[in-house]
Amino acid sequence: MQGKGILVVISGFSGAGKGTLVKRLLCDCDDYALSVSMTTRGMREGEVDGRDYFFVTKDAFEDAIKNDMLVEHASYCGNYYGTPKAYVDKMLSEGKCVILEIEVQGAMQIKEKFPDTLLLFVTPPSIKILENRLRGRGTETEEVIAKRLRQAMDEAKLMEKYEYLIINDDLDECVKQTDEIIHAALFEASRNADFISDMKQQLAEINK
Ligand code: 5GP
Repeated sequence: MQGKGILVVISGFSGAGKGTLVKRLLCDCDDYALSVSMTTRGMREGEVDGRDYFFVTKDAFEDAIKNDMLVEHASYCGNYYGTPKAYVDKMLSEGKCVILEIEVQGAMQIKEKFPDTLLLFVTPPSIKILENRLRGRGTETEEVIAKRLRQAMDEAKLMEKYEYLIINDDLDECVKQTDEIIHAALFEASRNADFISDMKQQLAEINK
């Protein structure tokens, strides 16, 4: 029924498990496409340029902003992050559900530009669990962990603006719930104005 795709924003505290959730969604369903962001932050061990992010310099990022190549962008923990426009447009026109795994400021920009966007916020069941997960990663210094927990406090202020909370306790359950929420959204009457008006037109013709 849904001809054009929808934008799905997945935000959440650093350490909430968004990355793993998104990877699983992409594996399980061909309807999803993941937008690869541009960032000025350094590459972490195991990350690949063009797969995890497009890693660029500050100058290159600022050029992309100037040339209107990003749908949204934000500064997070001292680095720029942004969503390249071209890929999102292409995937939406192919009818995909385009997933943006982005932080809250960017999410608000997207919702303002595209009010139909589905906003999902991923969180662990408790803050204690969040803290343990951040330490357990072993990839960040204590200073970075403290910075991310302070950041989480700011992000929590915008949690109510999201349409759904995804409580990431059990990963399988979390993937299933997210998939169901996205598929239910595809059938919301308000997202299917073209389908409805087509039906009305056909009925009007039959009843002439
Ligand atoms: P990380 O450095 O851990 O990969 O990402 C830090 C934060 O930046 C995460 O909350 C992630 O979702 C967010 N992020 C990643 N890409 C983008 C983007 O293109 N735009 C915005 N606004 N945030 C992003």
